[in-house]
Amino acid sequence: MKENSGHESFEYVVEQFADLQLLRYRVPGFENLSLRQKTLVYYLSQAALEGRDILFDQNGRYNLQIRRLLEVVYEDYQGDRATEEFRAFEVYLKRVWFSNGIYHHYACDKFVPDFSEDYLRGLVASVEEERLPLEQGETREAMCGKLFPVIFDSSVMPKRVNQTDGEDLVLTSAANYYSGVTQKEAEAFYAAQKAQGGDEPVMFGMNSRLVKENGCLKEEVWKVGGMYGPAIEKIVAWLEKAATVAENDSQRKVISLLVEFYKTGDLKLFDEYSIEWLKDTRSHVDFVNGFIESYGDPLGMKASWESIVNFKDVEATSRTEIISASAQWFEDHSPVDSRFRKEQVTGVSAKVITAAMLGGDLYPSTAIGINLPNSNWIRSVHGSKSVTIGNLIDAYNKAARGSGFREEFVYGDVERNLLDRYADLTDNLHTDLHECVGHGSGKLLPGVDPDALKAYGSTIEEARADLFGLYYLPDTKLVELGLTPDAEAYKAEYYSYMMNGLMTQLVRIEPGCNVEEAHMRNRQLIARWALEHGADTRAVELVRREGKTYVKVNDYQELRRLFGRLLAEVQRIKSEGDYEAARRLVEKYGVQVDPELHAEVLARYRTLHLAPYKGFVNPVYTALTDDEGKIVDVKVDYTEGYAEQMLRYGREYANL
Ligand code: ZN
Repeated sequence: MKENSGHESFEYVVEQFADLQLLRYRVPGFENLSLRQKTLVYYLSQAALEGRDILFDQNGRYNLQIRRLLEVVYEDYQGDRATEEFRAFEVYLKRVWFSNGIYHHYACDKFVPDFSEDYLRGLVASVEEERLPLEQGETREAMCGKLFPVIFDSSVMPKRVNQTDGEDLVLTSAANYYSGVTQKEAEAFYAAQKAQGGDEPVMFGMNSRLVKENGCLKEEVWKVGGMYGPAIEKIVAWLEKAATVAENDSQRKVISLLVEFYKTGDLKLFDEYSIEWLKDTRSHVDFVNGFIESYGDPLGMKASWESIVNFKDVEATSRTEIISASAQWFEDHSPVDSRFRKEQVTGVSAKVITAAMLGGDLYPSTAIGINLPNSNWIRSVHGSKSVTIGNLIDAYNKAARGSGFREEFVYGDVERNLLDRYADLTDNLHTDLHECVGHGSGKLLPGVDPDALKAYGSTIEEARADLFGLYYLPDTKLVELGLTPDAEAYKAEYYSYMMNGLMTQLVRIEPGCNVEEAHMRNRQLIARWALEHGADTRAVELVRREGKTYVKVNDYQELRRLFGRLLAEVQRIKSEGDYEAARRLVEKYGVQVDPELHAEVLARYRTLHLAPYKGFVNPVYTALTDDEGKIVDVKVDYTEGYAEQMLRYGREYANL
């Protein structure tokens, strides 16, 4: 993008290719940390980077070898690098880095190169044999014969996560979480474990690959001495250093429990760690490091590896503390059936954080809000810790200024003024409500399996949290609490939510494809449902003007009533574990794309030359040491480029 950040000298935009844009984020306040805290951030940041190879392997069994092959070619090729084919090769490699593998990070389908197989064969032939990432006993030709169909043939292992209703989701997903196992077998295997789980069940299957050996199912556990051992040993070594500079005993205990979990793979220890982590709200520096999110597993059990290191943004945190302090009020006044409400909302803690390092499944593409742990029983007994990542949101907003997006898609001046005036604020507030009170609200009826909604569980859960936030945004309570400046502000979020869910998020979908990702399905589900159910009153409609489609909201209060109605139904589905209703709702409203509208949105978006997906290059931390090797200061630098960073990570954190 041409736009830089106005009068500020910091360049937020690094580069753009395919459908991706790389940004940089600042780490304001790092210099003001104590030496001990800076050292802690440094050690945890190293731990955050050591697990990178784990995620590549989880995302597909050939990813690591493919990445290494491409990197060697990229570094060693002596021929003409200015040709169209080499440029296409470069873009492909950059996409593989971005997606941590050969599948689109968001859409989950395989992206196919814009250069030929023969061209790559020629590039590979030009590289010295000993530089190639050959497996034991493998020849150059055998490697190409194995990897090329995986790279070039769009029918071979086409999807990382397949969610198509009616297919064997395990066999047809290319993610490396199962081997030789059918969906039925995997479900039966874990149903048997869950039956033994008791009231406080661990997250079965979370940290292992399920394989069939000699007709028997067994788990290959990710731990020191097990699968991914070499990477996990490095992570553990940095965590052990971090423990020596922990801010307090509570944080030291958190780190040592995580280390014990990594050493044993014992999921009970992971629960203990999660509870300690949850309770530690005093530490200024905090981190996530482990097997966390299960979006990459079609059955929603296996967790991908990720890490974030951060510290508290004290000023911005006061906003989320106000929301958390009123959690019970929100719960008591929500429009859901009283049977599904929590009598007591416990431990909804919330803060705004400054990200200092992103790793694994949070890099380069990242979340802007996190709510953990994911264990259902821990959430209901101990609550959850919720954060929004202030400096990343700020980087998105700064980089998007003046992009022309609102001019193209927003209906008129009234709506544009609303957005200009309130959207940054109400968008943050919606995220806060989603994370601080949305996910934490409601309860399952006794005996309901938390995984009853299976493949639809993630979408329903995200819809629940989004609707909870949407429902409360217009509430006078928020004005009373000083969170919104006036009774108009919420309209900015309502408008942009509907516009995004009905139209503009489609820029992230390839022509002819459906909506796959849980958050996107959730947003379309809510927007489409509200459009259909608001048709009688014309609360919201799609209108045409000069050949272009726009979202027009005629009655914001009616829209709120609709969100409340849908929230009640979505909570019922979750509380009762009503799989059939979840399936119907998601399939009817969340999945299908109107091809005509889709084509129009893509065409309009193309004229803006924007990238629909964004990710971040990390800062570089350098530890300065004295003669005895003791750290005396940690410096942060923002100048590293995208390819430069990826190649360095490939060298320095090549653990698998
Ligand atoms: Zn969420």
